[in-house]
Amino acid sequence: MAYPLPATLTPSKLTKFMSCPLAFRFSYLDELPEPPSPHLVRGTLVHKVLEMLLGTELAVERTRARALVALDDAWEMLEEDEIASLGLDDRARTAFRREAEVLLERYFDVEDPASVNPIGIELDLRAELDGIELRGIIDRLDEMETGEIVVVDYKTGKAPRPEHARARMVGVHFYALLCEQVLGRVPTELRLLYLRDPVVVAESPSPQTLRGARQRAVAVWRAIERACDQDDFRPNPSRLCSSCAFRPSCPAFGGDPSRAREVLGAPESPEPAETPPVAG
Ligand code: SF4
Repeated sequence: MAYPLPATLTPSKLTKFMSCPLAFRFSYLDELPEPPSPHLVRGTLVHKVLEMLLGTELAVERTRARALVALDDAWEMLEEDEIASLGLDDRARTAFRREAEVLLERYFDVEDPASVNPIGIELDLRAELDGIELRGIIDRLDEMETGEIVVVDYKTGKAPRPEHARARMVGVHFYALLCEQVLGRVPTELRLLYLRDPVVVAESPSPQTLRGARQRAVAVWRAIERACDQDDFRPNPSRLCSSCAFRPSCPAFGGDPSRAREVLGAPESPEPAETPPVAG
């Protein structure tokens, strides 16, 4: 096999391979670094704050004031690495932080955190399916008074247009499959909280959607196996190319994939070229 297989299949790997096999190779097999982006770091910051806020034992203490205290704590945790890597001047840092505050204010418009009952936060689930190691980290798993469970996923980017909404649900259907496999319980609802807009997009899993998630995971994994075996990762140009960090090395845009490491200023792989590191 020209490339060793990744150790696990996650929603990110699955959607990345589905959208562009070459970008998947660069990210997960070559492990090329992507330049830090304010959008991604802000997303990490807001997720961290919500993890702290919803982790507060006393539900009545999950307040806006508490969220701002958690923002201070999360900021301190990320300041030296992720936030510093953005190279923002004082004015841009202030604006960056204000944007995070706005997302948190809008969070309170989409749900009342005092009314939810999380039974898992950043819940790391793994299951084996047809010899494939599935893994997913769920932002939050809630249990309702009825005993039903609900998967909650926070989104800090724009809500999709209706025609793209279904594609954005692929990750949460993967989580539903994991809940079924690991917990023996199927969520009654999959809820995406888009904080920017703010809007909630929800779907209910069914036997058909679970079967679809299972078939998709197996089919994509088999395609990854073939691509690794034949070292055949083709570019798949789409609207996502405009934000792709690998575009300068993409043959669809006149680039040379063999020079991607050099172009991105990444250190040489410690392994020989024919045995690149295995992605997790
Ligand atoms: S620029 Fe587009 S086609 Fe090329 S690797 Fe990135 S996503 Fe794929």
